[in-house]
Amino acid sequence: MSWGFESEPEVARELEWVEEFVREEVEPVDQVVEHAWNPRDPVRNALIRPLQQQVRERGLWAAHLRPELGGQGYGQLRLALLNEKLGRTHSGPVVFGCQAPDSGNAEILAHYGTDHLKKTYLEPLIEGDIVSSFSMTEPHGGSDPTGFRTTAVLDGDEWVINGEKWFSSHALFAEFLIVMAVTDPDAERHRSMSMFVVPADTPGVERVRDVSVWGHDEPVGTHQYLRYTDVRIPADHILGERGEAFAVAQTRLGGGRIHHAMRTVGLVSAAFEMMKRRAVSRTTKGRRLADTQLVQEMIADSWIQLEQFRLLVLRTAWRIDQYDDYRRVRADISAVKAAMPKVLADVAGRAIQIHGSLGISKELPFGKWVLESFHMGLADGATEVHKINLAQALLRGTEPDDGLFPPYLLPTLRAESRERYAEVLAAVADEEGTP
Ligand SMILES: Cc1cc2nc3c(=O)[nH]c(=O)nc-3n(C[C@H](O)[C@H](O)[C@H](O)COP(=O)(O)OP(=O)(O)OC[C@H]3O[C@@H](n4cnc5c(N)ncnc54)[C@H](O)[C@@H]3O)c2cc1C
Repeated sequence: MSWGFESEPEVARELEWVEEFVREEVEPVDQVVEHAWNPRDPVRNALIRPLQQQVRERGLWAAHLRPELGGQGYGQLRLALLNEKLGRTHSGPVVFGCQAPDSGNAEILAHYGTDHLKKTYLEPLIEGDIVSSFSMTEPHGGSDPTGFRTTAVLDGDEWVINGEKWFSSHALFAEFLIVMAVTDPDAERHRSMSMFVVPADTPGVERVRDVSVWGHDEPVGTHQYLRYTDVRIPADHILGERGEAFAVAQTRLGGGRIHHAMRTVGLVSAAFEMMKRRAVSRTTKGRRLADTQLVQEMIADSWIQLEQFRLLVLRTAWRIDQYDDYRRVRADISAVKAAMPKVLADVAGRAIQIHGSLGISKELPFGKWVLESFHMGLADGATEVHKINLAQALLRGTEPDDGLFPPYLLPTLRAESRERYAEVLAAVADEEGTP
């Protein structure tokens, strides 16, 4: 049996290098790069590309990918420890070649793309030369994909796509979009949609609005509202079988969600560290904030939440490694996904409180992180939907009890035990002379 909470020395050394590299090289870049995903930004390219090269030389590039795709064949557990280090930065995932949504889109292309699609899009995506977008959510609702209205109709050897998509993150920078559309409206609802690769410059792809979100300060919003009008793509740009979009989407969403959670551990840890530093640095009424019990409670509660969350993430990563099948860990991933926003909101919120007016100011990042927690409660599926999935999985296989009262009623259990041990109880009572 093996059961441990330590990294092998070789992994520990590698994590130490990552920790230092992120602090010394990546965090300063965050302060001057507007959007690390934008490959057309010369400042970004001048600063980030040399760092990417260092990561490659170190053998840590795109560590989430299987070796046949140029990755390191890292297990998810090791990846979790690496991602924790990147989580407190904006540029870190891009510097290490494992940023969403490109990481998930690469997985889809690797699984389902033709050789031509792999050559044209997967290879430069993995190299970090281009970025991509995942275009699934629609303006009239995202939580229920069975209600999507965008259509794709086969016309000769081309698919013709019509419809609108909402919050297609990074479509602004993307070379291609992965689009989910209804192809078989009369089929069973989970077999009615297919997934496609749409080159971003295809005629008919229109950016209706560049939607920005609170908490992100880019000059142009990076969540695109897109309209697809008679967008024609070759028939072989379908990913997977016709009607298989839900299965294809799962290929990317499972990994995407857990990787995001791994990075969130890093973000929460950063808030926690700053909270502790302020608590021991700031004094009030002649003593440190850290010496007041209510502040101590905030520190203790934050550590408990962070560590519980971290263990859940690591356990889930370990289970992914064990089974190598995302369907078997869907409930675990839903649990992690549902837990993530609250941990970040609570800890970043306490970090604001402990830092006082400075904490809420734009001179510290906590306000942005609290808002980030709301992004996390929506992107890749709303928290409620994940809780429903989790609860359904947990309830599956639990049989109803007969009778008005449950069989685990204490008087019932006591009577059963008394009957079972009647002879022993009687013998002891005789010896003791008790009735
Ligand atoms: C930062 C960010 C990035 C995103 N990036 C992308 C992207 O790249 N590509 C993409 O396609 N989409 C993206 N999205 C969209 C995201 O997938 C959707 O926001 C999400 O699926 C929820 O859909 P919705 O926003 O339409 O909310 P709705 O479906 O309208 O739901 C609104 C609210 O209703 C509640 N609710 C919904 N269903 C249930 C239920 N069954 N039971 C109980 N309550 C429920 C929840 O509180 C939910 O938040 C992104 C979102 C964010 C915030």
